[in-house]
Amino acid sequence: MKKFKTESQRVLDLMINSIYTHKEIFLRELLSNASDAIDKLYYKSLTENLGFTKDDFSILITLDADNRTIQISDNGIGMSADELENNLGVIARSGSLDFKKAAEAKEDINIIGQFGVGFYSSFMVSDKVEVLSRAYGSEDANLWVASGAKGYDITKADKEKHGTVITMHLKADAEDENYSEFLEEYRIRELVKKYSDYIRYPIRMEVEKTRKIEGEDNKTESYKELETLNSLTPIWKKRKADITEEEYNEFYKNTFYDYQNPLKTVHFIAEGTLEYKALLYIPAKAPFDYYSKTYEKGLRLYTNGVLITDKCADLLPDYFGFVKGLVDSELTLNISRETVQHDRRLKLIASNIEKKIKSELADMLQNDRENYVKFFQEFGLQLKYGVYENWGEHKDALQDLLLFHSLNKDEPVTFREYVDGMKENQKYIYYATGKSVEAIKVMPQTEKVLEAGYDILCLTADVDEFAIKVLGNYDQKEFRSVSKDDLGLDDADKVVASDKDKEILAFIKETLGDKIKEARLSNHLKTHPVCLTAEGELSIGMEKVFQAMPGGAKGVTAQKILEVNASHPVYAKITTLFDTDKDAVKDYAAILYAQALLIEGLPLENPAEYSALVCKRLS
Ligand code: ADP
Repeated sequence: MKKFKTESQRVLDLMINSIYTHKEIFLRELLSNASDAIDKLYYKSLTENLGFTKDDFSILITLDADNRTIQISDNGIGMSADELENNLGVIARSGSLDFKKAAEAKEDINIIGQFGVGFYSSFMVSDKVEVLSRAYGSEDANLWVASGAKGYDITKADKEKHGTVITMHLKADAEDENYSEFLEEYRIRELVKKYSDYIRYPIRMEVEKTRKIEGEDNKTESYKELETLNSLTPIWKKRKADITEEEYNEFYKNTFYDYQNPLKTVHFIAEGTLEYKALLYIPAKAPFDYYSKTYEKGLRLYTNGVLITDKCADLLPDYFGFVKGLVDSELTLNISRETVQHDRRLKLIASNIEKKIKSELADMLQNDRENYVKFFQEFGLQLKYGVYENWGEHKDALQDLLLFHSLNKDEPVTFREYVDGMKENQKYIYYATGKSVEAIKVMPQTEKVLEAGYDILCLTADVDEFAIKVLGNYDQKEFRSVSKDDLGLDDADKVVASDKDKEILAFIKETLGDKIKEARLSNHLKTHPVCLTAEGELSIGMEKVFQAMPGGAKGVTAQKILEVNASHPVYAKITTLFDTDKDAVKDYAAILYAQALLIEGLPLENPAEYSALVCKRLS
């Protein structure tokens, strides 16, 4: 007997001892594998002219109540001995680990297919599973058998034709578990309808029927007949009016491995030169790996009912990478996966789809704000990256889809809404960067802007300010950070420095050296004693992002201005000390600078020195 690899064994253990209520999904997983195996052979046949037609393929379910077995047979591509070993004995994908984590966190098992461990779900209901398979083009067949997580055997076997037969020996019923239900015709029929109706090959089962006996009145006999259980018409080919919301949602969940209903479903038919049907979904939640490198965007692509690829990345721009769904083109696209992406028509379809998604999102923003806000919480970051990408190549398409939290309204607003609410004399769209809205609310730099009655947009994600810089302006109104040295407010109440002030500020600058570019009397502050602002293009917020990058651009620093509040008692104290005790002013300068760094959430260069200074002045 060969041993399962450790990872596989763990996943199997979880399956065998599973406490999940949705054990029924094993059927969906195995039918989906069977359908995939047929897809593979059909695709091969079309590219290599093997001569199969769609009608040659089917999946058969056989129930045997006496032996307590369910069999699922397909005449797809099959597996060689090596493939049995590699596909069923080892979980090569990193998915297994993610699955284990999700399973241990008792998340919904429904997402099982997402992790590439679907076949193992058969062990939720069986204590022994046999896989008899013959690869297309080979004379040999092999039998893979496993009873539990210890290990499996592969032996030579006989099978007349290519394809795979999976035999599950059901577990015995227990007090709180009924496995015999899976031997009932009606139950299997129900499950196929529920989970696998859209499969495009017939799923057949021998069912018992009754008929009248001819010539004999009122007498019936029962007989067996092969019946196709699924409707075969894929959902996207049905008329919209004939599809219920539940059907759309079930199809989404089963096909794209989500356990939640989508936030929005978009089903449309394009006619004219480009004929295709598209069924698109916007998920309610970002997949666990969405913002990581392992996430692959893409739509399923069919042409004339043939599945070409599961994830055609070219059909979606990166910034709409969260959209799930499929496209079925009526045109005969070149069906080779390698060349289909060069098909000019595919590019046109992609561009239409992009426009469609954009207009659907804009519509949701207008007419269903609550859901749009939910959407934006999940995928807004992606849109903001979209604005920033390629030096703003797509900014015009995306800027009106962005939301930022408004400090005045205390809710997310669009740029349009901000600009429409601007005061008559207001020149700029003001924004503040910080860790959270709460942190921004108490930022000293916001005081004067708020006093002028201007709203401030809160930028709380790393990418935000970079995206804003790429935008530059909206509706000809420039963006301006509240931490910019010049706020562009009315000059009327600007603080004017006296000669003595100038002397003091020069002294402070001299004390602090290269740490700051300049010390100034502040036009930002009302009540706080001190803050930092920046001159030039690089803001303090951006500096922070650069500093946090792994191996990051440590040398990239903002040109910091130390702003002191001339009407604060601390400054009055400094003015007095300046004539009597220059050493004390030096200490004050160092302490104020350190405090300004702390307010910004920037690290102190020397915390111990700062602490010593403060204590010296306190004692
Ligand atoms: P997934 O289907 O997500 O890859 P599974 O654990 O369900 O994960 O299956 C593992 C692999 O075993 C499949 O990718 C496929 O290569 C192979 N396989 C499973 N069932 C069949 C089948 N009926 N015919 C041919 N190959 C199959």
